[in-house]
Amino acid sequence: MFHALLDVFFPPQCAGCGATGDGLCHRCLPLDEPPLVRALPTLRVYALGEYRGALRRVVLALKDGRRDVAQSLGERLAMMVSAPMLLVPVRTTAARRRVRGIDGVEYLARIAARRAGATVLCALEPIRGDAQRGRSRTQRLAARDRFWCDAGLVRGRGVTLVDDVCTTGTTLEDCAATLRAAGAIVSQALVIAVANDGSACSVDSSGIAAPS
Ligand SMILES: [Zn+2]
Repeated sequence: MFHALLDVFFPPQCAGCGATGDGLCHRCLPLDEPPLVRALPTLRVYALGEYRGALRRVVLALKDGRRDVAQSLGERLAMMVSAPMLLVPVRTTAARRRVRGIDGVEYLARIAARRAGATVLCALEPIRGDAQRGRSRTQRLAARDRFWCDAGLVRGRGVTLVDDVCTTGTTLEDCAATLRAAGAIVSQALVIAVANDGSACSVDSSGIAAPS
């Protein structure tokens, strides 16, 4: 109700171009764009587009915690999600989540999952300082240097990573290694944008592998 009233007096504006009506308009990210595909050493990454221009501004708005932008992006991401998928968002630290009141990546993963009938597993947590303290031995073993993983959620299951931007791919590969150490099967990631670091970024509409 409150949000509906806000929309009347302060209609959402596209984070990419400022057009009124939606957090992300169809001009800034057309609905019929095929995903971009980037091959990392152990992962295939599917993206809505390249990290530049309007889409870059949209990702920055998501990082700022704009829910209307997360909503629009989640709906676009849902087109790359199918029903039995288990989505594991690459979340920011708990401290940053408290400051912004939202984790943009988790929020958009939840919207995409709801749309597509998939499931979100918040199995990864960034490690900060003494975050290892108080964890069980299994949980500590499942932790690599930057993330720890709740092995009980993912052991023996096929999962798909979700993040906002893929630049070098190091974060996604770290997450995949952590998940695999916890017994998960992971071969693909969905992101909003890939940053062009000079590597080949080909358009591929062959579809996304079904989760195993
Ligand atoms: Zn726009």
